[in-house]
Amino acid sequence: MSQMRLNPLNGRWVTIVPDRAERPTDFIHRDRSEELSLSRPCPFCPGNEEETPPALETTEDDGTWSMRVIPNLYPAFDGDDAFAVQNLGPVHVQAEASGIHEVFVYEPEHEGGLGTLDDEHAAEFMFVLKRRLAEHAQLPFVRYTQVIVNHGREAGASVAHPHGQILGLPFVPGEVLDEERAFARFAGGSLLETTLQAEITVGDRIVISNDDVVVFCPFASGVPYEMMVVPHEQHAHLPSASDDALRAVGIALRDAIGHLQAALGDVAFNIGLHTAPHQHTGDYHWHMHIWPQVTTQAGFERGTGVLINIVAPEKAASTLRSVGATA
Ligand code: AMP
Ligand code: ZN
Repeated sequence: MSQMRLNPLNGRWVTIVPDRAERPTDFIHRDRSEELSLSRPCPFCPGNEEETPPALETTEDDGTWSMRVIPNLYPAFDGDDAFAVQNLGPVHVQAEASGIHEVFVYEPEHEGGLGTLDDEHAAEFMFVLKRRLAEHAQLPFVRYTQVIVNHGREAGASVAHPHGQILGLPFVPGEVLDEERAFARFAGGSLLETTLQAEITVGDRIVISNDDVVVFCPFASGVPYEMMVVPHEQHAHLPSASDDALRAVGIALRDAIGHLQAALGDVAFNIGLHTAPHQHTGDYHWHMHIWPQVTTQAGFERGTGVLINIVAPEKAASTLRSVGATA
């Protein structure tokens, strides 16, 4: 069973998941440059469905599946206990890491990826997330659901087949609490819609912009080629979004990854979806972050929490704009 422990120096939770070190991995040792060609069947490929627990949700396309959501065989968060904090003395605080951990296999093709989905598939990607988030919102022990994509070994992926993860957490993580505070602090209207208008006015950090959605390199990008995908339609919670907004975000996300891969090749990246914690009612605007992993965070970043970005976001956006999306 995983455990949450509170770091008393910064007030952020850490999850200790001892069993995960035993997981199989498709990737070879970190000091070798090439990915291992699969020596065992890929658990996420069509035909190997019995390698995974039964699907929670399957999207069909012409009689075969196009997307599957499955329980994670090695969950970091598991169980339906309410979050109960235990004090183990003057400073040590812990809790059970209850919750839900799902894998989202969004593409049957082992060699496929987010950047090459067709429009329908890119829209359906977001519709599946909406349904999962709406289901998590009904569960009293899930306070926040984090959707992520890890692509490539350097970005933490352990399986090469395209997939994301959906983690229903028993607490609200510090990163999301910080963003919520920023929305509450901002006195000039809506923080992200105001940001979109400022970015459109200046223009030099825009990668994609249309009536529904904007993809841009944030003014204070922490890593090279960082992007945000923000719909104009503002809802705190993704499940409140219209189908049009979800479709536009899915297609823009696909194209943002297409631009990234056309500009830099098949680089590693992480995607994080931020949506308001399920029961929160304050001001928020759901959105997605794309963090390419092309540099390493070192001692200064760890020691200070201050990121050093070696590519100006204006230059990154101009490079990303100058190449077509690959799809
Ligand atoms: P990542 O580590 O980002 O590549 O995500 C892959 C996830 O798939 C990990 O969290 C694994 O625990 C999980 N996983 C690996 N093999 C299986 C399997 N056969 N069935 C379900 N989940 C799996
Ligand atoms: Zn596969």
